[in-house]
Amino acid sequence: MRMPFIAGNWKMNTTVREALELVRAMKGELEKVTSVETAICPPFVSLAPVKELLAGSTIKLGAQNLFFAKKGAYTGEISPVMVADLCEYVIIGHSERRQYFDETGDVVNKKIVAALEAGLKPILCIGERLEENEAGKTEEVVSEQLSAALAGVEDIDGLTVAYEPVWAIGTGKPATGEQANGTIAFIRQNVAKTYGEKIAQEMRILYGGSVNSANAAEFMQQPEIDGALVGGASLKANEFLSIVNQTSVIKYRK
Ligand code: PEP
Repeated sequence: MRMPFIAGNWKMNTTVREALELVRAMKGELEKVTSVETAICPPFVSLAPVKELLAGSTIKLGAQNLFFAKKGAYTGEISPVMVADLCEYVIIGHSERRQYFDETGDVVNKKIVAALEAGLKPILCIGERLEENEAGKTEEVVSEQLSAALAGVEDIDGLTVAYEPVWAIGTGKPATGEQANGTIAFIRQNVAKTYGEKIAQEMRILYGGSVNSANAAEFMQQPEIDGALVGGASLKANEFLSIVNQTSVIKYRK
């Protein structure tokens, strides 16, 4: 059985002080849940202090991005080695990076390769835009994004995929559990074609897009959905906790 995984993407929110407050507000309760893996992904500037606060904790730390070069004259960038020094996870290919920072499939691929090489566990985000969804191109888009991101990657151990339809991110209009489950099943079949059934069955695939405490159960009840990448709701301790707790109850219900 795949261990359920709930990750919080804080995006460009929280100062260091606010980040520490948010971690303090949920740490104790989150640590009580042992059947769901949890990770938080604060902004870069908070990673080191949050890591310190999480010393000895079961809550994992993730970055929201990295640059693919190991080091050098890339002013303002953060290398995989620097991220790996602080984090276990890194979000790669988020639709906001694709949209606002022109990240192409090729760039996402370089980042995935670099992250894996540095020993990081990438959370690869893929998902179709509204017009692509409406044109019935969801499967075409996600399979293209998946194969571009994983081009030349032989070993995907440690990789998590997050299916995040762009039209559902931050809009309050999530996919239905059934839609998300269907696309995630399709993604898993695609992984199986390249990497084999065993690896595909072991790989976690999350849903992301307007997940909150009111709709989390709908997604977690779906067999192909192994957890969630949570944006807005991960900035509220009670919301995030509720999503994690519901996941634990639903996924382990006999
Ligand atoms: C995200 O940023 O990955 C995300 C899913 O955001 P939200 O939950 O706010 O839609």
